[in-house]
This record gives sequence, structure tokens and C-alpha cells, in this order.
Amino acid sequence: MGVTRYDVVIVGAGHGGAQAAIALRQNGFEGSIALIGDEPELPYERPPLSKEYLAGDKAFERILIRPASFWAERGVDMLLGRRVVAVDAQARAVTTADGARIEYGQLIWAAGGAPRRLGGAGDDLVGVHTVRTRADADRMIAELPCVTRAVVIGGGYIGLEAAAVLAKQGKQVVLLEALDRVLARVAGEPLSRFYEAEHRAHGVDVRLGAAVAGIEGEARVSGVRLASGELIPAEMAIVGIGIVPAVEPLLAARAEGGNGVAVDAQCRTSLPDVFAIGDCALHANPYAGGQRVRLESVQNASDQATLVAKTILGQALAYDAVPWFWSNQYDLKLQTVGLSIGHDAAVVRGDPAARSFSVIYLKDGRVIALDCVNAVRDYVQGRRLVAERLAIAPERLADAATPLKELAG
Ligand SMILES: Cc1cc2nc3c(=O)[nH]c(=O)nc-3n(C[C@H](O)[C@H](O)[C@H](O)COP(=O)(O)OP(=O)(O)OC[C@H]3O[C@@H](n4cnc5c(N)ncnc54)[C@H](O)[C@@H]3O)c2cc1C
Repeated sequence: MGVTRYDVVIVGAGHGGAQAAIALRQNGFEGSIALIGDEPELPYERPPLSKEYLAGDKAFERILIRPASFWAERGVDMLLGRRVVAVDAQARAVTTADGARIEYGQLIWAAGGAPRRLGGAGDDLVGVHTVRTRADADRMIAELPCVTRAVVIGGGYIGLEAAAVLAKQGKQVVLLEALDRVLARVAGEPLSRFYEAEHRAHGVDVRLGAAVAGIEGEARVSGVRLASGELIPAEMAIVGIGIVPAVEPLLAARAEGGNGVAVDAQCRTSLPDVFAIGDCALHANPYAGGQRVRLESVQNASDQATLVAKTILGQALAYDAVPWFWSNQYDLKLQTVGLSIGHDAAVVRGDPAARSFSVIYLKDGRVIALDCVNAVRDYVQGRRLVAERLAIAPERLADAATPLKELAG
């Protein structure tokens, strides 16, 4: 195959990759752009895959990030169904699985991650699912009519959202969480306990401290075996235990990293003219006290994409976007702002029993994050508290009668 060259090559046609191309054009970039993605679809929104799309409430066309005409009009070449397998940083070229070599002026790596698997023989049985791509969701949707019992492994956001969709469809759902509370990695205990109670109230059998020994069946899943010996029978198993960042070609090209690829405040990797953004980018985040983290959120992928586009266009900026995230389960809309990592106090504002409340996280007396459940006003007004890391007394934060904007002074 011949060699092609683009001024900017973007690997990964997901949230970050799409936004990088959009932001380049929006900010006046006139060079050539290729967006290489291993999925066959045009870039689409991933969050609905465990929410409205899985529930059948939103058609695929409605979750496309932009219609097909947009990419053609903006002169973005879509190289879809193509997987990049190697990066040659010296020659500034990537190689795809079909043997094509594509040269770049600048490379933006936005490859996200692959779902982590349990690692046993049961992983490949029919009826065992992960939720990362449209194809994953479509496989689940096709099987659901024949499913009465499902086991969800992992009490993170994706597992909980999938459990909510299935429970609403009348399936018997068992949710297994290895730790002693759901959402343990991302939220404080009051939020975990609230969601556990909600799921139980909707008929989900939430089991905490549940160690999985393996998934069992012959060709098709028949159940999930716990370390205790108990077999939980099921026709479907959904594994939601996180992702492995998709960075092998970059690490093989000797980019610094490990759990993701290390980037600086402009999302530059240690390789010349190679940036990394989104789920796979290990960056020092000011909202995590400068700790190096990978954030798995649309906000992070989009804001890092925009930052890289502006960096390529010569603007000197440093990544300091306020993190935000959302999750929909049943009629509960959770909105989070900031990162609660490293908090030393958590204040509950409002009444969880009324199903509208917020958890406000503090570190050294300063507000670092909020989790708002059906509490849009707190979310909107709390943003400033987080952005300015305001020091506010816990009793004042807990007083739901006083709007947060009045506390900002
Ligand atoms: C089910 C689900 C629900 C979610 N819900 C929320 C939510 O409610 N709110 C929120 O903020 N975030 C949510 N997220 C997270 C959010 O979708 C991700 O943080 C976001 O998609 C990250 O964007 P990205 O560009 O880094 O990666 P992705 O959007 O995953 O895009 C990466 C793309 O690169 C492709 N790729 C990988 N390797 C290669 C390769 N070698 N060559 C070519 N292509 C490659 C991948 O197949 C993929 O298409 C959810 C994610 C999932 C899976």
C-alpha cells in the first residue's frame, strides 16, 4: 500500500478524537486531518450505551456526535474500521492493521480503553458482555428478550446504570461488588449507600464484598460462581470492572507511561509531536491536588481535545478545566463537579430520603467536589465553590435552606 500524509492524524474516533477535529476546524486550522478509528461507525456518544440506547429509548442516529455531512464539509478524512497497530515516532508515521502507513505532522492519540475482563475461561461464553461500544450494546439488546436473570459484575457507574435499565425491564438482577460499597472509587459513602438502597428498592439484589470465582456455562453462560461456592444462575452476565487504557503502540514506541500514557499540561507525550487525550491520558490534574490521574469522562476528553487543538494552533494554555460528570439511573440524575479524591470530610446537604440532595467534599476545609442527586441548583451554584476552592464551614454547607451561591460570598 502507498504512503499517505496528513498534517494531523488523530487515532481514535470517539469523544476526544471527534472533538479534536471539530476544535481544530473551529479554531481555523486549514491543514489536512485524518481521523482513524477501529470501530465501523462515525463518532458517537458513549454514555447512552448504558442508559437510553440500551433501554431502546434513543436510536443510534440520535447519538452521533455529528452527522456524516459535517465531516465531509469540514474536510476531515474518516478512516474507519482501521486499527493502528504501530507508531514510528522517528519517521512520524502510524501503521494500521491492514498494512497501510500514514505519516503525520502531529499525532493526537485518543484511543480510550478496552473493557477489563475477568480473565477466566468464562469470559468468552455467549451471554457475557462488556459495555464499551455500540456493537457491545447491540449484542446485549439482541439477547435481552430471552433473558430473565442477569448478573452485573462491578458496582461502578456503568454496572449500576446497566442494572437500572435491566431492572426497569423486569429482569431479575443480581449486582456483585467486590468492595464493601458501590462507587467506592469515585464517591463518598453517603452516595454509595443511597444508590445501594435505590437499587434494592427497584428489586436489584445488591451484594457487597462479593468475590467472583468465575463465569460458568457451556457455550452459553449459565451462571456466576462466587468464591464462597455459591452459583448465581443467569442467562446474561455483564462485566463492568473498568478499562485498560489503549496505549500499547505508544508504549512500544517508548512513550512514558504505564497505566495510560503520561502527558504534560498541554497533553504532550514524551514523543515529539505526539499528544494524548481522554481516557488514556495520564495527567497531573489540578483538581486532584496535582496528582497524576486518568479521568474517564466526556468532559475530560472534550476539554483536552480542545486544548490540544489550540496548542497546535500556537496558543499557550495549560489544562485546568473543572471536572464534571453525570449518571442517570431510574429517575435519578446525578451530576458531579470536581474530584472527591483525597477528601477528608463529606457533608450531606438536603435529605437523601426525599431523593434530592448533595454530598459536598472538603479537603483542608476547602470545597473540592460535589455529587448532586436531583439537585441541579446545587450543581450549577456549587461549580464556583469548587473552581475557587472556597473555604466554607461544613454547617453552612449543610444548610439546604441557604442557596450555595450565597455562601460563595
Ligand atoms: C457505557 C458507558 C457509559 C458512560 N457514561 C458516561 C457518562 O454518563 N458521563 C461521562 O462523562 N462519561 C461517561 N462515559 C465515559 C466516556 O464515554 C469516556 O470518558 C469517553 O468516551 C472518553 O473519550 P475518549 O476519546 O478518550 O475514548 P473513546 O470515546 O472510547 O474513543 C476511543 C476510540 O478509539 C478506538 N481505538 C482504540 N484503539 C484504537 C487503535 N489502536 N486504532 C484505532 N482506533 C482505536 C476505540 O475503539 C474508540 O472508538 C461512559 C462510558 C461508557 C463506555
